Amino acid sequence: MPPHIAIAPCRKMPDYVESVRLAGGDPWELGHAADPVETVVSSCAGLLLTGGADVAPERYGEARHSTVVDVDAARDAYEIALVRAALAADLPILAICRGLQVMNVAAGGSLVQDIPSQVGTAVPHQVSDPKDAIAHDVTVVAGSRLAGMMGEAAAGGRLAVNSRHHQSVRRIADGFVVTSVAPDGVIEALELPQARFCVGVQWHPENFVASRTFLPLFAGLVSAARI
Ligand code: MN
Repeated sequence: MPPHIAIAPCRKMPDYVESVRLAGGDPWELGHAADPVETVVSSCAGLLLTGGADVAPERYGEARHSTVVDVDAARDAYEIALVRAALAADLPILAICRGLQVMNVAAGGSLVQDIPSQVGTAVPHQVSDPKDAIAHDVTVVAGSRLAGMMGEAAAGGRLAVNSRHHQSVRRIADGFVVTSVAPDGVIEALELPQARFCVGVQWHPENFVASRTFLPLFAGLVSAARI
């Protein structure tokens, strides 16, 4: 039986669903009113946190920067509860883009609210078209779960990734470690070594569904979910 992978509500579902399916999982698209957190955590084998709008800065104790728009308070509340319950249950988690950010905030971390004005960088983090366009390189920490999953592709300690974000992780939640950064120091991946499987990336691996470049990340989630 393919393990049931819960996918957080998102407006661009198809690539996530297809990536989970290609990796051997059974995708379950959540809807936040319909699927209570307790039910999700007790009836799925793994959790995929998806991309989307900014997390409300009030969630990490900051006033809103002028660039923070489209905050969805209901989605924030649902996903923060989902992350906390999933971490408490040691459910395997793969977190992508906003997913990485919401996971870090739910676990007590904070975010850079706007990279262009708060970091000031020449690295293009906002390259939208095509969605699998390579935007910049990232480092990959040797011995990390990320390095292990990507194998030969990350053998040189680097990966070429796409990028569609104006925010990033700032204060790292307790227990998490940085496993990847962009050339400007922007954090591109976190993992929680003590967890069964808890990995977050700032890029969009689901958009490489055609080339399967980042399928190993989904395979890692599905394989942890089988245990
Ligand atoms: Mn980036």
